[in-house]
Amino acid sequence: MKIAIAGAGAMGSRFGLMLHQGRNEVLLIDGWADHVQQIKEHGLKANFNGEEVVEQLPIVLQSEVEKEDQVDLIILFTKAMQLEKMLQDIQSLIKKDTEVLCLLNGIGHEDIIEKFVPMENIYIGNTMWTAGLEGPGQVKLFGNGSIELQNLGAGKEVAAKKLADKLSESGLNAHFSDNIHYSIYRKACVNGTMNGLCTILDVNMAELGRTSTAHKMVETIVNEFAKVAAVENIELDIPEVIAHCESCFDPETIGLHYPSMYQDLIKNHRLTEIDYINGAISRKGKKYDIATPYCDFLTELVHAKEDSLNVK
Ligand code: NAD
Repeated sequence: MKIAIAGAGAMGSRFGLMLHQGRNEVLLIDGWADHVQQIKEHGLKANFNGEEVVEQLPIVLQSEVEKEDQVDLIILFTKAMQLEKMLQDIQSLIKKDTEVLCLLNGIGHEDIIEKFVPMENIYIGNTMWTAGLEGPGQVKLFGNGSIELQNLGAGKEVAAKKLADKLSESGLNAHFSDNIHYSIYRKACVNGTMNGLCTILDVNMAELGRTSTAHKMVETIVNEFAKVAAVENIELDIPEVIAHCESCFDPETIGLHYPSMYQDLIKNHRLTEIDYINGAISRKGKKYDIATPYCDFLTELVHAKEDSLNVK
């Protein structure tokens, strides 16, 4: 299968590498010139579960995608705020039958993708795989993960199951879901509680969990997500989702980690995905006439932090 990875940062590199090792023809597409140059010159370097690996993978700048390029599947792996520009740049690659799979964190990406891709070719999902970008051309990949995905197009369940099987052939452990929006909201609740709060408070997740107000904040934010989701006919199991979010506090598992938004903003001075997590709930709340004060405030705080660090 010929597969393009549109957005070849940490996660795109992981997927590109695993799909390449699974004997697919992989094309990486990215907008970061230094990263593209390094991979062109030295290959993609990965610390893959402790082993140093170098793979020569073709990579192009997204501005240099050619009309003649042809792929069966495009996997989108930009950050949320880079998605629309990526789709604009690779428009010529999106043909009548090209399948497009979006595995970004956050809510509502299909609204953007639909502007560029016919609904019957869109698949959305989420993933428990992780990855870290160490520098241009270099990633760190460890642990295991999984993927859940579903078709947006009516009657495309068989194609979605085939796609999951195809990804699993490369060890990506993908499964068809018949309720992907539930999973996306459930994961967004984890990001919507851990990411913004740890970033603003400058703490890891275990430290957040030890604060006297953590439970109230998590509970309130999850309830805001749940009210918005309910309008979209997604009935979150609120106590289960709160417990799922708060399981991140455990120092024996992932509690000592700083979430990705913290790494992006505080460590690397990069813009955050807040507008597609808590910000998405704020926007939808306004549209549906539902008050979402914690999400509104957290979104504003994170933007204020971006401004105060002069991140653009
Ligand atoms: P990433 O930041 O590693 O890469 C995204 C894009 O940003 C790539 O095009 C990359 O080249 C570019 N980029 C990265 N660093 C840059 C720099 N210093 N200067 C210029 N450009 C730079 O993002 P990711 O971690 O691969 O995440 C992609 C999506 O997957 C996001 O929606 C994220 O929330 C989600 N996700 C990530 C993980 C994870 O463990 N990283 C896990 C699950 C989901």
